Amino acid sequence: MTMKICVLPGDGIGPEITAEAVRVLKAVDTGFETEEALLGGCAVDATGSPYPEATRALARDADAVLLGAVGGPRWDSKPREQRPETGLLAIRKDLSLFANLRPAILYPELADSSTLKPEVVAGLDILIVRELTGDIYFGQPRGIETREIDGKRQRFGFNTMHYSEAEIVRIGRVAFEAARKRRGRLCSVDKMNVLETTQLWRDVMTELAREYPDVELSHMLVDNAAMQLVRAPKQFDVVVTGNMFGDILSDEASMLTGSIGMLPSASLDERGKGLYEPSHGSAPDIAGQGVANPLATILSAAMLLRYSFSMAENAERIENAVRKVLAQGFRTADIYSSGTKKLGTRAMGDAVLAALDS
Ligand code: NAD
Repeated sequence: MTMKICVLPGDGIGPEITAEAVRVLKAVDTGFETEEALLGGCAVDATGSPYPEATRALARDADAVLLGAVGGPRWDSKPREQRPETGLLAIRKDLSLFANLRPAILYPELADSSTLKPEVVAGLDILIVRELTGDIYFGQPRGIETREIDGKRQRFGFNTMHYSEAEIVRIGRVAFEAARKRRGRLCSVDKMNVLETTQLWRDVMTELAREYPDVELSHMLVDNAAMQLVRAPKQFDVVVTGNMFGDILSDEASMLTGSIGMLPSASLDERGKGLYEPSHGSAPDIAGQGVANPLATILSAAMLLRYSFSMAENAERIENAVRKVLAQGFRTADIYSSGTKKLGTRAMGDAVLAALDS
């Protein structure tokens, strides 16, 4: 059966970078079928909706989704239902994507891009697994109300943090399985000293660990984790955490590398179907200039092969090709330093294609 990939180029640099990733995918395996659809601002312009019905049908039918990026100043003043980000949230919800995997890898050749000392970050390779559909971001009740408090009518804001045991087990399994395929270490991050929800999180992770004797589980409070990530990030292999802590820690981890154009991500459902996208946005400031770095999207395509199509070998072929082009001194403008060779988006795609075969 032919595997089908739904490609959503999106806005800004999205079309330029997804084009390169699709070329690379087709070069490693000719058995895929790819079909494009609209998501984000371009979809609003064409249909009035950031997640049109045709896109929804294609995304649901496909075996995996590859996304560029959405958004841009043109749509910032639109009503919320016509904002590009609304389309992004809608597709994540529609496809029941509950696990977000964000690797933060710093290739030794790019160690100078980080604001941290090269010896602290060179060779960094961590994976943050973030729960994506629960926690305080979605908990009810929530709102801003006017209430009588201490004898005074005033506004009162409130949100609800909650996780069920089943939700924790579900994300825990993704993280333990990922650790098993990597260096066998998993750090679960919580705030059990003050939040009952995360006490349950710690308890469930500890119970689950019995099923994964080959994975070494540790626990860390989120404030310490934020500190350790900048103090000694290489101590981590896989980190698993809830939606809110994961939101913050995954951004912190990605910034350790200093090269946003290099970082892929995956969001998975329970059956391993996923949406794959670079961690960066649509970079409207450089859109249409042919200078965007396509490597994060190409590496997202490698994740697609590994996690949705179980094609680890082809994924590694792509990752090794990216390593090779960096070792050859090829750079896009965002990661350029003197003494290296500056390439545009298409030429970087060409270099990766050439490195696949060398
Ligand atoms: P951004 O990631 O788009 O850009 C931040 C900076 O990094 C810019 O200077 C940009 O030129 C640069 N950059 C980003 N990706 C690059 C690449 N591949 N190659 C070279 N340089 C790159 O973040 P932003 O400027 O805060 O947001 C721009 C738009 O993207 C906004 O509309 C925002 O809502 C949207 N956004 C979308 C997503 C997504 O689609 N998942 C994520 C974040 C932001």
